[in-house]
Amino acid sequence: MKTMASITKIIVVILFFASQVVAQPDPDGKLRIIAFGAHPDDAELKAGGVASMWAAQGHHVKFVSMTNGDIGHFEQAGAPLALRRKAEVADCARIFGIETEVLDIHDGELMPTLENRKKVADLIRDWQADIVLCHRPYDYHADHRYTGVLVQDAAVIVVAPFFSVNSKATQKNPIFLFYSDGFERPYPFHPDIVVDIGDASQQKWDCITAMPSQFADEHSWQASYRADVPKEPAARKAYILELVKQNNEAVANKYRDKLIELYGQDRGSKVKYAEAFEVCQYGTQPSLEKLKELFPGFQ
Ligand SMILES: [Zn+2]
Repeated sequence: MKTMASITKIIVVILFFASQVVAQPDPDGKLRIIAFGAHPDDAELKAGGVASMWAAQGHHVKFVSMTNGDIGHFEQAGAPLALRRKAEVADCARIFGIETEVLDIHDGELMPTLENRKKVADLIRDWQADIVLCHRPYDYHADHRYTGVLVQDAAVIVVAPFFSVNSKATQKNPIFLFYSDGFERPYPFHPDIVVDIGDASQQKWDCITAMPSQFADEHSWQASYRADVPKEPAARKAYILELVKQNNEAVANKYRDKLIELYGQDRGSKVKYAEAFEVCQYGTQPSLEKLKELFPGFQ
């Protein structure tokens, strides 16, 4: 009996130490970035340029859509639309050189539950992320807001060894950042890093072109609630792509002062297309110098 008790004790000690072993950072020394969007096009719209630039430097990037996007169209819905949108973001991932995953949660039905918090934490832990991107929790759509809430709720537990039996804790707390948005209340987006995505803008436009369910169909999301969209297919596609380009141009213009601070007067004043990010107050808090070291295009 005494032997059994000793063996049990040894097993318990071994299990305890095994549970303390955290995954090692990527052996190739490259960064690991995971970006959460509410729908299959959100991360692509907000961070496609920077993701493409990171990937070109050999860093590891993954986009996750929290919902399957199955009501994001004015003519089509359900499983056929979900499958179509999954294939569209897979095309974008190929264009950017990144990985992608679409969770099978209905569009419009994402809730900040414990189950979903565990899903998000496991995804961050499995990816062993250094950097995590997501929506702010003040965005216009409930799925966007809850994506922000879920990622923020995961920010502390990703380092907890015993939080999940499904994944290993991250070795250190990642840096969490929000995508830019135009919402003013309760407080406006404040950029900490603004990236000139000029080098990757063509990849971003190619990705938009690869998502006709959102940006080209007659009954696509973008075409359906605007009165001014051309009827002819090629003209419609070009018109909507131009709107996306203008949005990226608007980010550069809105945060021009920050671009000049980051890149200097000469280059900063000439940046045409940009993506902007704000550091979340949870997770590791980087200095500006550290952000410039981590984000592409400042080296
Ligand atoms: Zn969305």
